[in-house]
Amino acid sequence: MEGKYNCLIIGAGMAGAVAARRLAEEGGRRVLLLERRGHVGGNAYDCYDETGVLIHRYGPHIFHTNNRRVFDFLSRFTAWNGYQHRVAANVHGVFMPVPFNLTSLELAFPGAEGAALADKLIGTYGAERKVTILELRGSGDPDIRALADYVYEHIFVHYTVKQWGQTPEEIDPATTGRVPVFLSRDDRYFQDVYQGLPLEGYTPLFERMLDHPNITVELHTDAAGRVELEEDGTIRLDGAAFDGPVIYTGAADELFGCRFGRLPYRTLDFQFEHIPRDDFQGYGTVNYTVDQPWTRITEFKHLTGQKLPGHTTVAREFSRAYTGAEGEIPYYAIINEANNELYHRYRQLAERCPNLYLLGRLAEYKYYNMDAIAARALELCDDLLK
Ligand code: UDP
Repeated sequence: MEGKYNCLIIGAGMAGAVAARRLAEEGGRRVLLLERRGHVGGNAYDCYDETGVLIHRYGPHIFHTNNRRVFDFLSRFTAWNGYQHRVAANVHGVFMPVPFNLTSLELAFPGAEGAALADKLIGTYGAERKVTILELRGSGDPDIRALADYVYEHIFVHYTVKQWGQTPEEIDPATTGRVPVFLSRDDRYFQDVYQGLPLEGYTPLFERMLDHPNITVELHTDAAGRVELEEDGTIRLDGAAFDGPVIYTGAADELFGCRFGRLPYRTLDFQFEHIPRDDFQGYGTVNYTVDQPWTRITEFKHLTGQKLPGHTTVAREFSRAYTGAEGEIPYYAIINEANNELYHRYRQLAERCPNLYLLGRLAEYKYYNMDAIAARALELCDDLLK
């Protein structure tokens, strides 16, 4: 007899939710979606705190993309608030735009010196260009190198050591490459065509995406207790062989009892604070790039545009090594050669199961933005729907 479900998805974050919707809607699949936490949305989950401020419990999520297909797909389930993210680095009390740009340059080097540096940078790399800090530090020009040293010291090195426990040279260059020096006066964090937060929040977006008669979501459900992977590649759901597609969006090592050792991640601790002021910092996020133990402070009202006179909520972020302890969340894969190799050992085990698909930031051990995960999910569904 045919089972109740013919598609199993583990994890109700961006990867799992996008895949669930398409397979249910276009493929007519009867999807069972298992989620360990008590809510959908993964780390993009948002909720109202006890003072009525809409917060991102797992850190700031700002949607931005150039991918029209992703934007159109998600726009079926939400309108957007048009928020354009702006970040300042707190450099000994001076707020400098990040990515470091021509305005930051003037703040760091007022007057003729800064103007000469701007001319030289634009003459060398071109106006409106983005140049990574590691590239700038490799410049043969002593003036550019001196500027690069300033930016490295005041924007990158301390923040990166707090965030990763390693220096910019020790981590994947693509990571600091996410925030290149920008030879522009555009002080937005992202330049993508589509930017914003879901008008009513991320959680309603996910709830609408998953609201389909062919989708069953089971919250508070650890897949470990329901799903087994056998050595011969058979997958069992509640003891019965399951031959429909199984999309797994959790950490790859956990799928195999971490038998080769844990995949390294960074985890975060968030300290939320209510402040009896209209506005705490004037920016969505302020990065603490020269001092303080936290990496950044996010003030959610700036992101959401919520009007709540007299009070605001902020979150300080602290980064540390993930240990796998109960309740800890793996946020960032630590991408390097050794860790990628370890990941590939798990991936090879997964490949023994012909109907198993690893999808998303955790399962693929990648530093994906939300839009990239959504794009990957859409592509996987294109294949599965063929
Ligand atoms: N970074 C930094 N200083 C900053 C902003 C970013 O050193 O003020 C580096 C740091 O290594 C960080 C990386 O650039 O981890 C990527 O920053 P992004 O803001 O993209 O990180 P996310 O928001 O994904 O945590």
